[in-house]
Amino acid sequence: MKKRVAIIGGGASGVMLACLLKDEFDISIFEAQNRILKKVLASGNGMCNLTNARLSDINNLNGIYNHDLSMILNRFDLNKCIDTFKDLGLIIRPDSAGRYYPYSKRSNNVYDAFDYELKRKGVKIYTDCRIDKIEYKDCFILNNKYEADYLVFACGSIALVNFDYNSYDILKKMDYHIKDIKRSLVGFTTIENVKSLSGLRIKANVSLYENNKLKEDNFGEVQFKDDGISGIVVMEESRLYNDKSKSYVLLDFAYDYSLEELKELIKKYNDKFKDLNKTLNAFLPKMLAQYIIKMGKNLDDIAYIIKNCRFNIKGTYDFKNCQVCRGGLDLAEIDLNTFASLKNKNIYFMGELLDVDGTCGGFNLHFAWASAYIVSESLNKLI
Ligand SMILES: Cc1cc2nc3c(=O)[nH]c(=O)nc-3n(C[C@H](O)[C@H](O)[C@H](O)COP(=O)(O)OP(=O)(O)OC[C@H]3O[C@@H](n4cnc5c(N)ncnc54)[C@H](O)[C@@H]3O)c2cc1C
Repeated sequence: MKKRVAIIGGGASGVMLACLLKDEFDISIFEAQNRILKKVLASGNGMCNLTNARLSDINNLNGIYNHDLSMILNRFDLNKCIDTFKDLGLIIRPDSAGRYYPYSKRSNNVYDAFDYELKRKGVKIYTDCRIDKIEYKDCFILNNKYEADYLVFACGSIALVNFDYNSYDILKKMDYHIKDIKRSLVGFTTIENVKSLSGLRIKANVSLYENNKLKEDNFGEVQFKDDGISGIVVMEESRLYNDKSKSYVLLDFAYDYSLEELKELIKKYNDKFKDLNKTLNAFLPKMLAQYIIKMGKNLDDIAYIIKNCRFNIKGTYDFKNCQVCRGGLDLAEIDLNTFASLKNKNIYFMGELLDVDGTCGGFNLHFAWASAYIVSESLNKLI
């Protein structure tokens, strides 16, 4: 009889593992939702940013991820990732910033590449099948029904999905230690009323301050919502946000000018046009100009606000609106060479379920593929 592998979670890591396991295994994927790969389909705004050229910059990894993963990412590096997708029938290529996408820039193509391979291998997929009971009697028994010799947890995190349960509960029941789950890669709600700016997308330099100390400074597009701000640059800074302290962001909308240059320019234009709306039309979208005019006491003050527009952070958007979670299964619970449980035989863990999170740019999906690759190596050796 073939050895049976049960994969709990049909997301990025679970599906990748099923594709990488030897055909000698009898593989089943159990997915709580009505289809597999839902997050992959939503990822990268439907384009699926699946890895990043900066992975080779090992010195940077500790900043990119919340742990030093060089040992793992050396085993599944960028080239290995490119080749793995090539083997699955998918060409991936980078944009000018080194973010890799499928050649078509459509996550559907990633889905289809996996789907073809799962069908070829005869992987059994159980959708609408949430696993919430696991017993062991000679083999693993899932939900009183499904039997397996090896169990792989690939349940992901609670980011985006609107679960009525928590994917970590099942591990807590088995006495695994889960590190505090926090939102990451998420927008900020603001104390200021920004409703009049809702819908605005604008490039700015974004500086995050905590207790008046600069924590991070990045440039990119900011998106205003009814009650806060978002966009990749804001989401990246949310990784550093500490909800226990007083934080704010300063947006610089005139990053090409020094404050003195801007003051001079505004004065010159205003002397000429004698109309502040017309003056600010030179730099800013109308809705933003009007927002700033309401706050500025005089021309110098307006120039200062354009370069230091302050938004005090009330909090972050909820789990449904974040891309990943911080925290998860404590890495101390696993053998980092195999991703096997240190406590229970024949149990493995992968993906975002673990206490690993990365910044925007394909790093989270890369970790999902890399951890699946390591589990596949561990299991394939047993055949
Ligand atoms: C909107 C959005 C955009 C993103 N864009 C990017 C991007 O462009 N690049 C990038 O690198 N990362 C991106 N991410 C993050 C990335 O998608 C995740 O980090 C990655 O999918 C994690 O893979 P995973 O296999 O660990 O978990 P998931 O892909 O989340 O899969 C876990 C699966 O397990 C299922 N499950 C959970 N518990 C159970 C249970 N008890 N029984 C059965 N099934 C269960 C869940 O339903 C889910 O389908 C994005 C995330 C979001 C939300």
